[in-house]
Amino acid sequence: GTLSEIKERGKLIIGTEPTFPPFEYVDKDNNIVGFDIDIAKKIAEELGVELEIVNLPFDSLIPAIMSDKIDLIIAGMTITKERAKVIDFSIPYFNANQSIVVRKGESFSPKSLNELVGKRVAVQLGTTGDLVVSDIKRIKITRFQKFTDAFLELQNKRVDAVVLDEAVARAYVKKFPKFEVSTVIDTGEKYGIGVKKENTELLEFVNKVISNLFKSPYDVLVEKWF
Ligand code: GLN
Repeated sequence: GTLSEIKERGKLIIGTEPTFPPFEYVDKDNNIVGFDIDIAKKIAEELGVELEIVNLPFDSLIPAIMSDKIDLIIAGMTITKERAKVIDFSIPYFNANQSIVVRKGESFSPKSLNELVGKRVAVQLGTTGDLVVSDIKRIKITRFQKFTDAFLELQNKRVDAVVLDEAVARAYVKKFPKFEVSTVIDTGEKYGIGVKKENTELLEFVNKVISNLFKSPYDVLVEKWF
């Protein structure tokens, strides 16, 4: 919806895919929490409305915003040229790279994407990890909707590696020390919040909230007094 529709409705509806810690994940009380969720809460607070979080497969987020089922995509989504053809993105709010995760203590410890040739690799459907792996021939790719399922597949030795965003890989490895990050692939990605095209007022509002988050308390004082 537009800025005024959201205010009238009294609720901001965001879409996300919560197997992406620490950006969005389901905590032990069954709540969706994380870095992105705190940004979403901030936007809702600034709008003076409630926040509703819709849990969707990652590759359904863009269709959902295009059909007005959600107002914003806040899902650690990388700003790409392809996606920017169909939706708008906020200013970037996080830098990211891809990484390869394997079972710890085994001989297979790839240091590049090319070392995945001939191997079985799990990714999340429709992600940039899916794209970088799909670019290379002769990798056997299994595409999952949930990263939790991709890691289960790695644990059960039905795949040899999982390719995903580094910060998220680190979060999984911290929680499950039986895995390790074997290398980071410098893809130079930036996350943005997805907004429907032509929804300019909402986009500008979101950009203002993000740029305010970047300001230190000192910057805020300077802006107030000078
Ligand atoms: N940053 C990656 C992408 O945009 C992965 C996002 C995710 O899985 N939530 O494709």
